[in-house]
Amino acid sequence: MPFSDLGLSEGLLQAVAQEGYTDPTPIQAQAIPVVLSGRDLLAAAQTGTGKTAAFTLPLLHKLGLTPPDPNGTHRVRALVLVPTRELAAQVADSVRTYGKQLRHLRTVMVVGGVNINPQIDNLKRGCDILVATPGRLLDLAGQRAVHLGKVEFLVLDEADRMLDMGFIHDIKRVLALLPQTRQNLMFSATFSKEIRSLAEGLLKNPATIDI
Ligand code: AMP
Repeated sequence: MPFSDLGLSEGLLQAVAQEGYTDPTPIQAQAIPVVLSGRDLLAAAQTGTGKTAAFTLPLLHKLGLTPPDPNGTHRVRALVLVPTRELAAQVADSVRTYGKQLRHLRTVMVVGGVNINPQIDNLKRGCDILVATPGRLLDLAGQRAVHLGKVEFLVLDEADRMLDMGFIHDIKRVLALLPQTRQNLMFSATFSKEIRSLAEGLLKNPATIDI
């Protein structure tokens, strides 16, 4: 199945073609239509399967459907939680690469272990898509440097690693800052009891994909 059959906007298809991708990977072919339909998603996917584009492309499509605010205001509409700095950088990079034609959407990355002040300044310039590790995000929210009350899309990437790293309480504290109505996407390489329990609490009638 070619990318053009998945319902993605022309700008995204061009970005994908520029990356040299011809066909979607299996996780992309299955996940992209689900995300576009608005359903919650639980996906079993390892790194290297193309899972980043599987959520990034349909998120960008949906965010791009809303015209830019004439006053240039931004709000965090998509929150991607990841376990590590490295993954955050990779995801933010993918969002910027695929979304390069959606110039009005600002992507900000916030991670622990580095100075918080440049992140606060960066958030002040506006943020539509926030890629974050949970602890630093909570610090920023505690300092009112970020407002999560308008989040429409939540992605938990590598959820199993986040639990392994002891982030469950931080994740729950982040969830409490989000509005009730939103679309949730959860990606995990493995499915422990803890992951299933997190998924049950988080996802509403999810589509499940197991590659
Ligand atoms: P990920 O599993 O998201 O870490 O992606 C693994 C690698 O696959 C990345 O280097 C992507 O650039 C690449 N990739 C993602 N989607 C495709 C695709 N449809 N065709 C070829 N390569 C892809």
